[in-house]
Amino acid sequence: MKEYDFLIVGAGLYGAIFAHEATKKGKKCLVIDKRNHFAGNIYTENIKGINVHMYGAHIFHTSNKDIWDYVNSFVEFNRYTNSPLANYKGEMYNLPFNMNTFYQLWKVKTPNEAKNIINAQIAEVNISDPQNLEEQALSLVGSDIYYKLIKGYTEKQWGRKATELPAFIIKRLPIRFTFDNNYFNDNYQGIPIGGYTKLIEKMLTGVEVRLEVDYIKDRNQLNLLAEKVVYSGMIDEYYDYRFGTLEYRSLKFDHQILDEPNFQGNAVVNYTDAETPFTRIIEHKHFEFGIQPQTVVTREYPKEWTPKDEPYYPVNDTKNDLLFKKYKELANAEENVIFGGRLADYKYYDMHHVVALALKKVKEVFGEQSIIK
Ligand code: UDP
Repeated sequence: MKEYDFLIVGAGLYGAIFAHEATKKGKKCLVIDKRNHFAGNIYTENIKGINVHMYGAHIFHTSNKDIWDYVNSFVEFNRYTNSPLANYKGEMYNLPFNMNTFYQLWKVKTPNEAKNIINAQIAEVNISDPQNLEEQALSLVGSDIYYKLIKGYTEKQWGRKATELPAFIIKRLPIRFTFDNNYFNDNYQGIPIGGYTKLIEKMLTGVEVRLEVDYIKDRNQLNLLAEKVVYSGMIDEYYDYRFGTLEYRSLKFDHQILDEPNFQGNAVVNYTDAETPFTRIIEHKHFEFGIQPQTVVTREYPKEWTPKDEPYYPVNDTKNDLLFKKYKELANAEENVIFGGRLADYKYYDMHHVVALALKKVKEVFGEQSIIK
């Protein structure tokens, strides 16, 4: 008998949920993380009374009431609604693309007027079978929206020409013909009151956590500690990159404390031109309606991932997905290792996906009814 039932590698959302549920079932878990804090990329740090999203802004949204109730059972969520703005060469536009945006672009006041302009632009580009993100976007929204609000942002974000990117990325951008600036279509959205770190802290209550432990470096000794491993790190790193390296986009975050109460009047402002080197400025206090005398802003500079960087966005193009499949085959054959989460699955997940997948895995492992539908 080993000391622990589960060694959980990674104290992010996936690992924390698994650890919480397994502990509830009487299993002994050890959670390790190579960073000096838990909560993974949803880690928030309180700076000047403001919960700063240290690894990029996270807004929880879902249409699944069970998932919403699940996360709310740990901490209460506020009623924050994501309504980002776009700054294109000094012009301000509402996102997602909606009647406010169309009014700002063309001064149109009715859905029919907006549809006429968009349809005329779609007809002009005349793309019937879109092969990449550029063609997909042009055939869905026409050229004005594409060139002012999509192309520059997307090419900066992904470091690739929009003609070389998969079309699915743009499915995340809804278009609607109402005056509604809510970015998400989901029934539920919000931010945990007190920050995401508190959410993970609650999940990990009663669970042993060891920080600054590098599984990949010390795996031989660490594996001796537990019957099974739950691995939420990078799948290619787990296999020592034997088939090659999966590509990621990384980000450099430039956090600043400013001596003013309100820098940009909104939590998220995207810079959609090609020239501005950052993609967006986040003003964290607005996620929680803060009224502190100071403010904290973060500029996001996209960059290619190298082993020194944090891997943020998997580049789910054909080449990388094929490589992932090879690693996945190895992973499927493992008897004592469970792989899960954004990095192990190499998928561009939202948080609600991660919650659903972690709970599904718990159900699979313990052979029980799932808490969520
Ligand atoms: N996007 C865009 N213009 C914007 C915001 C987003 O073209 O102002 C596109 C871009 O291709 C981006 C994708 O939509 O990669 C998803 O962006 P979102 O901000 O929703 O993703 P996040 O980075 O927050 O996961």
